[in-house]
Parts: sequence; C-alpha cells; structure tokens
Amino acid sequence: MPDLTQKQKKNYIKSGADNCPLCKDDYIKFSDMRQEGGVMIVQAGKCNGCGARWSETYVLSEVELDAEVA
Ligand SMILES: [Zn+2]
Repeated sequence: MPDLTQKQKKNYIKSGADNCPLCKDDYIKFSDMRQEGGVMIVQAGKCNGCGARWSETYVLSEVELDAEVA
C-alpha cells in the first residue's frame, strides 16, 4: 500500500483525526496508545470502510507545573 501524501496527512490532522486519511470514512478504530521512549506515543488506526491501516505519532510538546512549589 503506498504511503499517504503530505496533503492527505495534513488534511487528516487538520480535520481532527476523525475520518480515514485515505477514504474519509468515519468508521475508524484505534488501538491502545503505546508509549515509546518516554516522550512519544504511537497509536494504530484502522478504517473499516476501505481497510486502510496507519500509525499515528504523538510527541510531548509542552510541560508545565500545575501548582506553584512553595
Ligand atoms: Zn478508509
């Protein structure tokens, strides 16, 4: 299966990752999130419409204290 185009990737992320990046079907399922290397989380997605499978990568982008330390 060929990889997604940059445009398909961008559209998928921009639309909130709710629809298949290939066929836009909204009947998609996700695996549990798997942490990799502490700052990265990978999740597998699958489309029940066209059968596409893909991996999503989430990277830690911010860290801040919830309360001030006295
Ligand atoms: Zn699909």
